[in-house]
Parts: sequence; C-alpha cells; structure tokens
Amino acid sequence: MIDELRAWLEQQGADAAWISDPVSIAYLTGFRCDPHERLMGLGLGSRGPVLVVPGLEAESAAAARGVEVAAWRDGEDPFALAARALGGARTLAVEKAHLTLSVAERLQQASGAARLIDAGARLREMRLVKQPGELDRLERAARVTDDVCRRILAALRPGRSELETARELDAMIGAATAGLAFQTIVQSGPNSALPHLRPGGRRLAPGDLVLLDFGAAVDGYHADITRMAVIGEPDQRQREVHRVVLEAHDAAIAAVRPGVTAGQVDAAARAVIAAAGLGDHFIHRVGHGLGLEVHEDPSLDPGSDLVLSPGMVFTVEPGVYIPGWGGVRIEDDVAVEEAGARLLTHTERSLRVVPA
Ligand code: ZN
Ligand code: ZN
Repeated sequence: MIDELRAWLEQQGADAAWISDPVSIAYLTGFRCDPHERLMGLGLGSRGPVLVVPGLEAESAAAARGVEVAAWRDGEDPFALAARALGGARTLAVEKAHLTLSVAERLQQASGAARLIDAGARLREMRLVKQPGELDRLERAARVTDDVCRRILAALRPGRSELETARELDAMIGAATAGLAFQTIVQSGPNSALPHLRPGGRRLAPGDLVLLDFGAAVDGYHADITRMAVIGEPDQRQREVHRVVLEAHDAAIAAVRPGVTAGQVDAAARAVIAAAGLGDHFIHRVGHGLGLEVHEDPSLDPGSDLVLSPGMVFTVEPGVYIPGWGGVRIEDDVAVEEAGARLLTHTERSLRVVPA
C-alpha cells in the first residue's frame, strides 16, 4: 500500500509525503496508535518510509510493517526528525484535513518544503476497496456484533433504563475481548425518533419501541448494527412502520452490485418509504462506509454518483422517525461482491417482542 501511495506521489510531482492521521498510518503500516498531542507521522522521502513516533510508543511501533522507526523523547525537537525523514522535499504531500496549520508551518520550516499538496483524498480512495485481511477483520467484528445483538435482544426487560441496558451491552462486547465501535445507542419510546440521542435514565415501558444501535471493533475494524424491539405486543402502527423499513432495507440490499451508484442504492430504499407515505420521515442517507473508521467512504447519499465495486464495505440503514412517536431503523453491514451484496451481519431483523 505504501508502494501504491509512492507511485501516486511521483505522478503528482511530490518529492515526499508526511502522513499524520493515525487511521492512515494504521492502514499503511498496521500500527495503531493515538499519540494524543505528541507529534507522530509517517515520512515518505528519499530515505524510504520512516515512522516518527513519541518515545513512549517506540516499542509498540516496532510492529509496524515495512518502516524504519525514529522515536523522539519529550524535550527533543520532533520536527528535526521529521525533516530528516523528508530529506529536503520541495513539494510535500500531507493530509490537509488532518494536519493542523501550526504543525504544517513547523514542518515547512524544518524541511524547507515550499508547497503542500493534499494526499487525503487519495488515501481515502485507496481505503474504499478492502484488502482480504481487512475483510477478515470486518467479518470478525460483525460476528461479535451479531452474537452480542442476539443476547441483548433476549436480555431486554421492561423497567430497566436505557443506560443500564447500554452498560450490559457494552459489557458483552468487552467480554468478547472486542472494543466498542462507537458509543452504544439504546433509545426507548419517543426517544427513538432522535437518531443521535444518547441513552439516558428512561426506563423501558410497555408499548415502547426500543432501538439498539451499536458495534464491536476488532483489530481496528468496525461493525455497526441496528435492531428494533417492542415492549409488549406491538400495535398496528409499530408493525406497519417496521414492515416498511424492512422492505426498504431489502430493496436497498437487492440494489447493491458492482456498477450501480451509491445514489441508486439510496433511491431504492427511499422509494419504498415514500410509497408508504413516510418519505418526509427518512431524514438521513441510506448508509456509510465501514472499515478503520465507523464512518468512511463510500457515503451512500441521495444522488451520489459514486460507482460501487467489489470489495467496498458499507452499512445499509434506512429509518423512519416520527417526532413524539418514535423511530424505526434497521441496519446491516454488507460487502460488495461480483454477484451483489454479501451480508456481514446476520441477526434476525424482525421486530423483537419483549414480554411486558
Ligand atoms: Zn449504527
Ligand atoms: Zn451506521
């Protein structure tokens, strides 16, 4: 992957690159690290790849693939190490969306680079199509997520709070020696109409829809699932909205295949929800890419002309949100293959009925 980036640098007329986003460093070297405020970067210059890391990380950085490690200690000037790694570059590729202006200025001073170009878009594009090792990790994250999903659905009880339920769910992920892909969402009753609301003290009560949205992280790769339950027998409207969202989910998954645009997948789900008269209540895109980040490319936005190809991995998650009533979302993770979508998550999608 470093070779692929180097070939691109050459095409762009860049002498060197300074890769600073820890996600990109993980992608290129397999080394995952959050350096907090300390300087870390992968320098690609005439010397070959040099990973500049804080001294605290030197030992774990030894596991990075195909790079020389240059560690600096607190009190030393990390920019001198960076400049050495970059070797007198004139045109330097950086990640403009990640690098702060202050670090960019100090890098330029230390290295003498006169011009900065952006490598961010190229790196995101490289990450669009997953390598076999990445797919394997995504599948493992999805397996843990499915297992936890089945168990938490069986463990739902009226009278327990959203927060208590979320903590139990998080403990299940931890017991599987995985990390949380993101902060777990457990929403009950009208709260489920607010897609970003965090779990609170509200107790699950008879008649409530319950929305669970969470995922496991395995070796840096993420899964993301949403399932629905109801406390007591669902009423007709709950059944009907769930049925429409499920049908939209089926339609989107059926639309996935190489050559189709992301916008067409979104439109397939949107058409079903609009036909049911609920179009105004589907208030977000149908899905997002999944990998080293929980939200990455491709973004399955309405109207997107990004063309799907084998090896892309993303969520399919249509939803309907009715203020004051509640929301229904169903989310699975899929990989694009020649024949179409291959589901990575497999938990039963029906509306789970919890005895009241
Ligand atoms: Zn989700
Ligand atoms: Zn999602």
